[in-house]
Amino acid sequence: MKEIKCRECGKWVDADLENCANCNVSLRIEEIEREEKRYKLFEDEAPTKFELWLDSLKKSNNPFKLALYGILRFFYLVYMAIVGFVVWSVFWFSG
Ligand SMILES: [Zn+2]
Repeated sequence: MKEIKCRECGKWVDADLENCANCNVSLRIEEIEREEKRYKLFEDEAPTKFELWLDSLKKSNNPFKLALYGILRFFYLVYMAIVGFVVWSVFWFSG
């Protein structure tokens, strides 16, 4: 069995896995590097780790992960809307 070292947690895991069995980070390094390069073009809008993880769920063929992606994305958008509203109101009431 071929094993590769996880770049996040340093554990040796099955190279056939899509994500690290220990920390669940994507093991498809080339893909990640390509993404990072793409995002470097928009440094102000660099995605958080959570967004990258959501993105990896979206690309998954696993229906459970896809459902999870839909649910999490919904809550994330709601969360961002609330945070945005709070920031906006603090700005509004302090100004
Ligand atoms: Zn790991």
